[in-house]
Amino acid sequence: MLNLVLFGPPGAGKGTQSQKLIDKYQLVHLSTGDILRSEIAQGTTLGGEAKKLMNQGMLVPDEVVIRMISNKLDSNPNAKGFIFDGFPRTVAQAEALDELLETKSSSISGMIALEVNDDELEKRLLMRGKQSGRPDDANPEVIHNRIVEYNSKTTPVANYYKEQNKFTSINGIGTIDEIFSSIGNVIDQF
Ligand code: ADP
Repeated sequence: MLNLVLFGPPGAGKGTQSQKLIDKYQLVHLSTGDILRSEIAQGTTLGGEAKKLMNQGMLVPDEVVIRMISNKLDSNPNAKGFIFDGFPRTVAQAEALDELLETKSSSISGMIALEVNDDELEKRLLMRGKQSGRPDDANPEVIHNRIVEYNSKTTPVANYYKEQNKFTSINGIGTIDEIFSSIGNVIDQF
């Protein structure tokens, strides 16, 4: 199985690259942000609780997202592999993911981090906010909170994979195709 963690701050381009990767490698795309937004759209209890936190730019609790990922792994028993996008976002989530995959005799192949500086991120997110209608992209204060959450809770996740020699970072600035080809070069070495 090819199990890829796509890593990077909000606005780094994980969603865009995931779409291209699932086509090329026939992987199942698991974006915790997308799953949460779909819970909100369906008006579930979980969605209602997550919405308040997401609209403030805060992370939702680990137990919630871990349970969501566990369900998705169970409901795709024949997958060739998965792209994890926006997950794991804390070290506790990374540990839980390893345990979940182990029960399926599988493991993470590697993490690929998209490097983009903060100025570029804020520009991209504000632009996306105008087009996507995502409330968390439209408000500069919420964008700022997401970057703060990322720097404090999510950056340590990179070290978790570095310690396992599963970490590669690539330049996230360039054309979509240039970045896609850099990611492909890394995957070919897994
Ligand atoms: P982005 O990476 O652009 O901020 P996402 O769509 O990945 O957007 O996530 C949107 C929001 O959903 C996050 O700000 C957070 O509130 C919540 N969220 C998504 N994934 C997780 C996760 N793994 N753990 C906790 N909260 C999450």
